[in-house]
Amino acid sequence: MSPAASPGAPLSIGVLLPDVLGTYSDAGNATILAQRARWRGIPAEIISVTAAVAPPTTCDIYLLGGGEDTAQIFATEWLGRHPGLLTAVQTSSMLLAVCAGLQILGEAMSDRSGRVSAGLGLLDLTTTPGTRRSVGEVVTTSTLPGIGTLTGFENHMGLTTLGTGTVPLGYVTSGVGNGSADRSGRAGDGALTDRIIGTYMHGPVLARNPALADHLLERATGGHLEPLELPDQAALRRQYIDA
Ligand code: GLN
Repeated sequence: MSPAASPGAPLSIGVLLPDVLGTYSDAGNATILAQRARWRGIPAEIISVTAAVAPPTTCDIYLLGGGEDTAQIFATEWLGRHPGLLTAVQTSSMLLAVCAGLQILGEAMSDRSGRVSAGLGLLDLTTTPGTRRSVGEVVTTSTLPGIGTLTGFENHMGLTTLGTGTVPLGYVTSGVGNGSADRSGRAGDGALTDRIIGTYMHGPVLARNPALADHLLERATGGHLEPLELPDQAALRRQYIDA
């Protein structure tokens, strides 16, 4: 678990600002992480960190979701008031950031009215408005070894340009993603560092891409996780949905 967490503590998953950045069920990423940990015998807890509370700085994994332009400005200011949290996601925790969550981690972002806002500066990227909204399925090949294809649903106006040293989470085979090529000349989606995974993929992205969920869990627990023997999906459907 995170070096900052107390020994024997459950894997802690902090959902940051679900009341502000909570579109498209992005908070469901926490459910996926917790359940995949529990299925392996790893106790896990989900901590909902609304704007009204002081955020804990010892979670193993933090999650940031998507939202509207005004919501993301609020979120940027709120996060900027909690430097301990920003230090944690750079030094001891993992962070998954989706869409607006990705944009606010960059250097700057502008909206259609031309207003430019400073980002949190955790990632070397900038976001500017495109000429039309990118809506639909996005498919990439991940830059993370062994992860393969990633899929998600995107809905954003902003297009993101990565700094020359910034690696995308994946290269786009269908859809838009960042909407710009990186230094290799290929169109990417999101951004990737040791501790931060950013993407334009909603879904929730971890429900649609369990290998990415397990990658986050492995990074957070520091250990290799065996593949899961999952319950038969057709049997579950018969039991819970078709009944
Ligand atoms: N407001 C941002 C945009 O439209 C982010 C949207 C989102 O998070 N889905 O670019």
